[in-house]
Amino acid sequence: NARASGIGNWSVFHPDMGQIADYRQWIESELHAAFQRGDFDVYYQPQHDLATDRVIGYEALLRWRHPKRGMIPPAEFVPVAEETGMVVPIGEWVLRKACTDLKSLPQDMSIAVNISPVQMMTKDFVSRVRAVIAETGVNPSRLELEVTETAMMQDRERAAQVMRQLGDMGISVAVDDFGTGYSNLSYLIDFPFQKLKIDRSFVNRIDKDNGGAVVSTIVGLSRALGVRTIAEGVETEDQATLLRAAGCDVVQGFLYGRPGPLAAMGLDTRPVAAGATVH
Ligand code: C2E
Ligand code: MG
Ligand code: MG
Ligand code: MG
Repeated sequence: NARASGIGNWSVFHPDMGQIADYRQWIESELHAAFQRGDFDVYYQPQHDLATDRVIGYEALLRWRHPKRGMIPPAEFVPVAEETGMVVPIGEWVLRKACTDLKSLPQDMSIAVNISPVQMMTKDFVSRVRAVIAETGVNPSRLELEVTETAMMQDRERAAQVMRQLGDMGISVAVDDFGTGYSNLSYLIDFPFQKLKIDRSFVNRIDKDNGGAVVSTIVGLSRALGVRTIAEGVETEDQATLLRAAGCDVVQGFLYGRPGPLAAMGLDTRPVAAGATVH
């Protein structure tokens, strides 16, 4: 459950149980005001195609800059936002911001947005996504939604239906943190998705023990399923070389660029000339 996993994360920074409860309480009490006052921002991290050696898109990553306490990592506040339900409006705000920003990216680039299981399971999720797309006018094929195994396992039938509806709209779905959540692989058969995202924990052990075998197996599995692979958390040239050798399609990590404001991505975002299609 979200509460237990949340506390698991914080205990690294706040070993005292009383402090954990206080910190969690503080986050809960601050979240709403923070959202209202505009503390939140979306950073972008490049995704690099190994075949063409080019940036093909960006992952949108939520940031909370508290006026007094500074940056608060998503690992600390997203679980609380999931418990209170705040993740639903915040998640929709991220999606809208990402779709708006997508319009200033070159037309062959896409944006990936993380979707919380809580958000994905709300009754009107698909219609809200459809509304944001209509409102911003983006081409849905340039949008990718990252969902986790946990989301898919909560209510398999509903999750499969949502993923099918997203697919019908032309949106692609990536399975984030693949291999870390749920060991029953049967969902790979039941769920429609287009990309497997190899978790950082496998990437940073790719050159150790059986790490390489696990990564190669994930790539082989993806190929057999007809989906693409993206590796996250790529930090070294050695990891990139091994991922390329394993046949991984796309890489993302500090080696290629840290998450940052869109304006820091070094893109030419001048308005497109009159007469040309804008997005
Ligand atoms: P994730 O979706 O698996 O995102 C990858 C995380 O790895 C990001 O952490 C990113 O900054 C970090 N990262 C990227 N490259 C490297 C690298 O080379 N080395 C290392 N050590 N880390 C790297 P971040 O931004 O702190 O986000 C953590 C998690 O919070 C995300 O994991 C995602 O599950 C969640 N999250 C972030 N933004 C959102 C959002 O808008 N909505 C929801 N529901 N969850 C979000
Ligand atoms: Mg992600
Ligand atoms: Mg991930
Ligand atoms: Mg991850």
